[in-house]
Amino acid sequence: MEIIDTEILVAGGGIAGLTATARLAAAGFDVTCVDPAPADAPGADQRTTAFLAPAVATLERAGAWAAMAPHAAALWTMRLVDAGGRAREVRETADFEAAEMMDRPFGWNVPNIAIREALNSRLAELPGARLVNGQTVAGLVTRSAEALARLSGGGQIRARLVLAADGRDSGLRAGAGIGVRRWHYGQKALVFAVSHPHPHKGVSTEIHRTGGPLTLVPMPDRDGCPCSSVVWMAPGPRATDLHALDDAALGAELTAETMNLFGPLEVTGPRALWPIIGQIAARLDGQRLALVAEAAHVIPPIGAQGLNMSLADIETLARLAEEAQAASQDIGAPSLLAAYQRRRYPEMVARVAGIDLLNRAAQAEAQPLRDLRRAGLKAIHDLPPLRRLAMRWGLGLR
Ligand SMILES: Cc1cc2nc3c(=O)[nH]c(=O)nc-3n(C[C@H](O)[C@H](O)[C@H](O)COP(=O)(O)OP(=O)(O)OC[C@H]3O[C@@H](n4cnc5c(N)ncnc54)[C@H](O)[C@@H]3O)c2cc1C
Repeated sequence: MEIIDTEILVAGGGIAGLTATARLAAAGFDVTCVDPAPADAPGADQRTTAFLAPAVATLERAGAWAAMAPHAAALWTMRLVDAGGRAREVRETADFEAAEMMDRPFGWNVPNIAIREALNSRLAELPGARLVNGQTVAGLVTRSAEALARLSGGGQIRARLVLAADGRDSGLRAGAGIGVRRWHYGQKALVFAVSHPHPHKGVSTEIHRTGGPLTLVPMPDRDGCPCSSVVWMAPGPRATDLHALDDAALGAELTAETMNLFGPLEVTGPRALWPIIGQIAARLDGQRLALVAEAAHVIPPIGAQGLNMSLADIETLARLAEEAQAASQDIGAPSLLAAYQRRRYPEMVARVAGIDLLNRAAQAEAQPLRDLRRAGLKAIHDLPPLRRLAMRWGLGLR
């Protein structure tokens, strides 16, 4: 039976798993990533990801950012629009400007298909990176000195450290006996791309009325036409109805919902529907095992936090492994994994709770709650220390 010996096994080749593999292999580790998708599977994820500045730094260290940058649109302003009055009209606009904090944009919005292509090309260049496609990690036995993974194809992988990047239903998390708490919001997110006559000027716009936030995130112009990606969170039945509309009808609904802020919107690509849940693992470490990304936390897509938290998990682990390597210590030692748990878990719990609160505020139906939400937005925006604190929190800076 074939046994692959590697330093780090990454279970799951979603964007988080591929990034972890590239980041760690670029740091000189021997890394093997296992994912069930075939090697030549065409990308089908219609979403885009807004990478905030710290996540871009991780992608730069992984050597993958340069290939993504040509597909990226800069995000200079985060605009929150409250339209929670009785009539569908703008009541409050709060702009959070990157220029108040730094001389760079807050982040960059990149199509997920381009992200995967860039990561796969980078992995092909890295001598320490190995991809095992078309198989899953079907079982994991850990001992004090190593972990032994059984692959669905019959082979085995021996590693010193295993990263569970196998998504929200993580089998590695369950196998390690790590519990998870999951909750539902009754919402779905409809995701698609649009073009519009008015330029977005690098402004990401999040509109709050009721049912959930509606966000338009800048994309690069296409054929000279301004474009944005849309994440429209709505109660499940409403989102399902919107999903069933033809392009013209969906464009008209969105134009009305955005109160014509962008002019008439035209749907330019396929759409996808994502159920919205929240989830948090009871802890991040097991014997020789670290949970990262959605195996550890799932949050509603608000403020571009989900994958950005995942890249913070990966960066934290990579630095701990680099420090251990430099000190000739074991990269899968309990002390390293305990340090990972200590550094990431409190921040993760706070962020999941913060996004949960924001989503529940955005869902609010009752008029007094919508008025309270507007007052809260105005207070945070109009007081400079609070405004800067909110921006630092959003970026994941201390
Ligand atoms: C509508 C929407 C918009 C979003 N927008 C943003 C955004 O702008 N910015 C942001 O930061 N985040 C965003 N997010 C969150 C982000 O998309 C997710 O955090 C991210 O896609 C999850 O990546 P992942 O790699 O953890 O999980 P997945 O993509 O689920 O990857 C897990 C992988 O593991 C594989 N796998 C499963 N079991 C096994 C096994 N046993 N062995 C091996 N492999 C296995 C699966 O096949 C899969 O390929 C958004 C989310 C949604 C729903």
